[in-house]
Amino acid sequence: MRPSKALGQNFLIDANVAQRIARLATDTGGDKFIEVGPGAGALTVALAPLASSVLAIEADRYVIPILFDVLAQRDISNVKVLHQDVMDFSWSDGLEQGESYCLCANLPYNIAATLIVRILEEVPAVGRLVVMVQDEVGRRIASEPGTRQYSGVSAKVAYWATTKIAFSVSPSVFFPQPNVESVVIDVTRRAEAPISGATYGLFSDVIRAGFSRRRQMLRRSLAGLADVGILDSVGIDPSLRAEKLSYLDFLKIAEALVGSDRGR
Ligand code: SAM
Repeated sequence: MRPSKALGQNFLIDANVAQRIARLATDTGGDKFIEVGPGAGALTVALAPLASSVLAIEADRYVIPILFDVLAQRDISNVKVLHQDVMDFSWSDGLEQGESYCLCANLPYNIAATLIVRILEEVPAVGRLVVMVQDEVGRRIASEPGTRQYSGVSAKVAYWATTKIAFSVSPSVFFPQPNVESVVIDVTRRAEAPISGATYGLFSDVIRAGFSRRRQMLRRSLAGLADVGILDSVGIDPSLRAEKLSYLDFLKIAEALVGSDRGR
C-alpha cells in the first residue's frame, strides 16, 4: 500500500492509541458512529466492537478492499462502508432520521478544519466529534480569545460547541510519520437553539472581515460592515482587534446589524 499525500494518508499503526480514541468517543454511551476516512481500519476495529453501528466514509477506492479484509478477519459486521468523498456526502439522505451520531476519526489534515465547521453548521444529527487532527489545527479550534492561535475557525466552532483537547499523539504512531504532533479533540455540540440563518450569515461576515485584517482595529477591519455606532451600541470598543472578541461578542454585533439598515 502506497500512502497518498493528497488524501492525507497517515495511517495509525498503534492499536493502543486507536483504543484510547475509541474509548473516549464511546464514554457517554452514544452508540451510532460515523468514521471519516477509515483507511485500512486501524480505528474502525477499535470502535466497532464498542458501537451499535459505524458508517465509514472513505474516498480511496484502493484501500477499501483492505478494509473489508480487516473487518472480515475480525468478524466485524456492524460497519457500513461507503466509497465517497465526504465533502460530497449528502448528510440529509445518508443518515437515519431522528438518530444522533458521534463522528470519530483520524481526519485527513487537508480537510479537517473545514469539515468540522461544516458538520457543526449543517449536520445537527452529529452531536459530538472525537477526532484526531494536526496539533496546530486542534489548538486553533480549541483556542480562547486573546491567544496567538485564536482565529475565525475558533470563534465559529465556539458558537456551535465546546472543545477540549483530550490528549497529544506522537508522530511515531503513524505510517508514514507526519512532521508534526497530533491531538485528539473532543467537540460537543451546545444544546442551545441556533440563531436564524440571516443572523448567522452576518455573524460569519463579521468574523471573516475581522480576521482577514486581524492586526487592525475593529473600526478599520469592520469598516463598511459594522460602523462605530453599531460597535458602541453593543458596548464593544472599536479600538480592539478581532482576536480579542469572543463568539458572543461577534454574535452581539451580528444581532445589532440585523436590527439596523445593514441587516435588512
Ligand atoms: N483511519 C485511518 C487510520 O487511522 O489509520 C486512516 C486515517 S488517514 C489520516 C485519512 C483517511 O481519510 C485516509 O484513509 C484517506 O484516504 C481518507 N480521506 C482523505 N480525504 C477524504 C475525503 N475527502 N473523504 C473521505 N475520506 C477521505
